[in-house]
Amino acid sequence: YDDRDGFIWLDGKLVPWREAKVHVLTHALHYASSVFEGERAYDGVIFKSREHSARLIASAEALDIPMRWSVEDIEAAKKAAMEANGLKDAYVRAFVWRGSGPDMGVASARNPVHMAVATWEWGAYYGDAKTRGARLDISKWRRPSPETIPSHAKAAGLYMICTMSKHAAEAKGCSDALMMDYRGFVAEATGANIFFVKDGKVHTPTPDCFLNGITRQTVIELLGRRGVEVVERHIRPEELDDFEQCWLTGTAAEVTPVGQIGEHRFEVGDLALTVASDYEKLVRGRL
Ligand code: PMP
Repeated sequence: YDDRDGFIWLDGKLVPWREAKVHVLTHALHYASSVFEGERAYDGVIFKSREHSARLIASAEALDIPMRWSVEDIEAAKKAAMEANGLKDAYVRAFVWRGSGPDMGVASARNPVHMAVATWEWGAYYGDAKTRGARLDISKWRRPSPETIPSHAKAAGLYMICTMSKHAAEAKGCSDALMMDYRGFVAEATGANIFFVKDGKVHTPTPDCFLNGITRQTVIELLGRRGVEVVERHIRPEELDDFEQCWLTGTAAEVTPVGQIGEHRFEVGDLALTVASDYEKLVRGRL
């Protein structure tokens, strides 16, 4: 993927794709001193762009990485990367990390901070699951307590168990894995939040130890506009059997219905499809 045409914004410059490189002694590579954003542009406009830029700064601060770039700077960088690659519908990855420098131990205060923005075309994250419903495995890994790790940061280190969970799920023919939290409550998938439907009401886990996704917040607002009640609460895994519908939300996932989690089955129902279609209209400015 590194050998292709295009440009990546790196520390203030548009660099040819093949030349956007870092040194092997990059602190982030050894100690996960790295934060990132995942965003999507529709018809040339990044959905909730400023919210993503603000979250990138908040994530960096949570990891004690001093941010040299403001929301305005990040907005300009994303715009430059999109334009340089001539993209209208695209995924946008903005990221900040500690580079190589005098500190090769755990501390990194003397190492420079870098930022890059890459953007590329990325279709449906779960392929045809958008219409058929995704199948999820249940991960053996749990989302850690907020006292263990800054769980609201979108930080690389939080994804180690996500990658392991997703690999295990894919080995079983599933699209993704549902992760429980450190207390055993239902938390989220490896890169998306989760919603359930029962008796016309929507239930979703309280985001007290995982990312309160921008798509999640958007979907709660869309449901509110339709007068659908949304209950944020702790959900026990035993309750999965009681739910009729389920879907995932995330920038990459958008709104993807879920057909199965472990042995529990859900219908790809009206509300899941309505929310998916409302979201699709909203991101394209047609709602
Ligand atoms: N949880 C995790 C672990 C994620 O990686 C993502 C994707 N950023 C989400 C939830 C959803 O967040 P958002 O809707 O802001 O993309």
